[in-house]
Amino acid sequence: MVSINKEKCIGCGSCSATCPDVFEIKDGKAVVKAGADTKKPCVKEAKEICPVDAIK
Ligand code: SF4
Repeated sequence: MVSINKEKCIGCGSCSATCPDVFEIKDGKAVVKAGADTKKPCVKEAKEICPVDAIK
């Protein structure tokens, strides 16, 4: 399970660039795509790359 802290997210787009199958930007914030495979290895990369540590 992956969740995004919308309070923290600044909409930088790094997660969607790193892991476009799972993350997308909607209304300036990252969201997890419906039905996305959140076990993909790139999810871990996105967590690490997020500048504000908003992906849990
Ligand atoms: S990398 Fe972090 S701050 Fe940037 S859009 Fe994704 S969740 Fe938001």
